[in-house]
Amino acid sequence: MRIVDIKTAVIAGNFDWILVRVETDEGLSGLGEAYWGTGVVELIDAAKRLIVGENPFDVSKLLFKMQRGLSGAGAQAGATVTAISGIEIALWDLVARALNTPLSTLFGGRFRSQIRVYADLHAGEEPTPESWARRAKQAVEQGFTAIKFDLDAPNPYTRDISDDADPRRSWYEPYNRTVGSAERRYLQQVVAAVRETIGPDIMLALDCHWKYAVPDVIQLAHALEPYDPLWLEDPIPPDNVDALVTVARSTRIPICTGENHYRLQGFRELIERQACSIVAPDIPKMGGLLEARTVAAWADLYGMLVAPHNVCSPIGTVAAAHLCAAISNFLVLEFHALDVPWWDEIVLERPVIRNGFITLSDAPGHGLTLNEEVARAHAKPGTTFFGEPV
Ligand SMILES: [Mg+2]
Repeated sequence: MRIVDIKTAVIAGNFDWILVRVETDEGLSGLGEAYWGTGVVELIDAAKRLIVGENPFDVSKLLFKMQRGLSGAGAQAGATVTAISGIEIALWDLVARALNTPLSTLFGGRFRSQIRVYADLHAGEEPTPESWARRAKQAVEQGFTAIKFDLDAPNPYTRDISDDADPRRSWYEPYNRTVGSAERRYLQQVVAAVRETIGPDIMLALDCHWKYAVPDVIQLAHALEPYDPLWLEDPIPPDNVDALVTVARSTRIPICTGENHYRLQGFRELIERQACSIVAPDIPKMGGLLEARTVAAWADLYGMLVAPHNVCSPIGTVAAAHLCAAISNFLVLEFHALDVPWWDEIVLERPVIRNGFITLSDAPGHGLTLNEEVARAHAKPGTTFFGEPV
């Protein structure tokens, strides 16, 4: 079997969902997905010349060829790694389909077939504790047992001091990474309201999107500890592992990070320095299934859990879920499209998520079939849909 072509389709979801199809001379194809980003489709095209004509079963060799052949384009991190990730997932799907086995089998088989996903809820409709609590309640009523909110969402204290007619009201300035007393009190009230509404057992993760200064986020973490968060995500800018170690040692809330890191070497220092308790590799961004498998094994040596970041369509999400099935230290997988009602209409096997879980089937590959009609209807104008202009 030989690879004859690689084609892409860009679906205009809440992000650009970049679907990647690897086609062979035997008519069999694999379907993957790459994380969104400028230049990713072009880089996938650029990778084509490196692996067309090759045997798709030699995945590791093909990864080596793409990483080396695109090294000048930046194959250590960034869009090049993301492009390779999308191709890698399509290759594994192809191999699994050729072997008539689920994707999870290729990564060691399953610890579980029910993959817990968490609903990323961002914030309430209004910046009030009541509104955040309502949003949490809706998700729990839909069956989710794990949810996440963004602590850095707009709040009554987010004001640029230079825009404020009365600068005495601007307790919180967005550029100096501080959390003033008023904002901390507000966030504490919001998280308290959510916890009270969902009860003690629902997992509640909190994301900071790299926003805060070290002392400020430590104080914030202490204020939030009584509400038993599942994790505090990306508390400070991602540039300094020492600073993250300081935060991690200063709170009993587990620290989660990793969605901006690429390949094994990108996670090495975080893991070896134990700068977090939970790693969040974005599989279709950071290098693909095999790379994430290696990160998970490395993290396990340090007693860390894995909670993959994910903003994909069902294709990338379910491919990630197969890896989540195959690693012992899996915690929970992100679902970022609660507000996209047609999210799983682009595949035939629906619903993809039921009661907050993805139940993996024994169908070959990731087990999903693209509903081409629906997918094409949502294709991004100006792109190509597997070779045909949209
Ligand atoms: Mg995040």
